[in-house]
Amino acid sequence: MKLQCQVEVINRVHCSLNIRSNGKYLKSTLALGKEPKNDKEYFILHFSSVNKNGLKYKLKSMKQVFVKCLNEGKVTIRFEEPPHDLCIKSEVIQLKSFMRLLKSCITGDTKDLKLSNLSTIATGKDIAPTKLTIHDRSEFPSKGFPRTLESLYIVGLKLCNFRRDILLLNNLSILDLSNNEIEKIPVEFGRLPNISELYLANNRLGIKDTVDWKWLLGPQITKKLRLLDLSGNKLKELPKSIWKVQNLITLKIDNNDLKRLPATLGRINTLRYLTVSQNHLQSLPCGLMQCQLDYIDLSTNMFIFGNSSLKTVNYSQWDFYINSLVHIASKVVLNNKFFYAPNIIPWTLVEFLDNANMCVCGKPVLNDSYFVIKEFELKDLYRVVVFNNSHSCAVGFECFFCSPKCFAK
Ligand SMILES: [Zn+2]
Repeated sequence: MKLQCQVEVINRVHCSLNIRSNGKYLKSTLALGKEPKNDKEYFILHFSSVNKNGLKYKLKSMKQVFVKCLNEGKVTIRFEEPPHDLCIKSEVIQLKSFMRLLKSCITGDTKDLKLSNLSTIATGKDIAPTKLTIHDRSEFPSKGFPRTLESLYIVGLKLCNFRRDILLLNNLSILDLSNNEIEKIPVEFGRLPNISELYLANNRLGIKDTVDWKWLLGPQITKKLRLLDLSGNKLKELPKSIWKVQNLITLKIDNNDLKRLPATLGRINTLRYLTVSQNHLQSLPCGLMQCQLDYIDLSTNMFIFGNSSLKTVNYSQWDFYINSLVHIASKVVLNNKFFYAPNIIPWTLVEFLDNANMCVCGKPVLNDSYFVIKEFELKDLYRVVVFNNSHSCAVGFECFFCSPKCFAK
């Protein structure tokens, strides 16, 4: 039997040494059970928020029970070893039946009682569950998800809508919503403070022509997210501002309809694992050469081979780095890492700066239209390359240039 109650633990040794207890009643669960090996050995397990694994008190070492205030819902149980007094406050009827059970354990009159073994009593988890897997729609908790959840798995339930009660889970760090039919993630999701792994594979995020990515650019998620799985979502493009997810390590975008990757990916210094198989990529942005990837999967795309010629041969080389005043000023801002925000400069400029491309040297380039496709050997750039062209691992990169020097290289 389990009793939900408030418990203050008084250590009598501390009292005799004149160390005061803090006088705090903690929300607790008391469980009465018996040892798995010895049917006659009973014990009380005490779980609280500070003691999630539970502290075990043997009934053998129980010294005294104070029940004077039982009708007010208060009881104290004194143990010899450890020298603790458990001061219990609970709902009267619950407490009385707990005490009756306790009494029959002591008197040995337990023939009709069904007591759980130690092994079957769940440890503190029932007070503060941290992990939840929903296998069926009927399993959604009626009172909403426990706020203590750190990982939540709702996989393959054909959910069309993102469940908004997820937005209340401030401790959540792993969320798996794979294999559903979700089309939209609410903006508020970006404010969850602890999301580090997000699995959204095989949903329908890209089903509409324009995807609202604000949830991914929220102030909190951009700091904490380490893994993002967007495979199988019919995505036609990724947002250029994806680089704001500053600490991303793993990005999975396989099996979408991507024709290009944002050049800004190169600005995510932490990126190590990138899988882009089964898309329609013809080339890669040169910014990606700045990433120190340990693993890249580019299999089943539409890369064009042996075509490293100057595709943009009509341009004069000056087109690459002589630009408008806005371009030149922006380059200075980015090169010097000046602070900018929409409250000091127009929003359109912020966007312009945010979306800057990268030169082959890693410096920012503001132009979007002038680039040269050059082939590079993937194996020279990354540690592990998965690629399904048996002849070579060379792929065309869209190269932008910041200066005559870079262009000449
Ligand atoms: Zn350059």
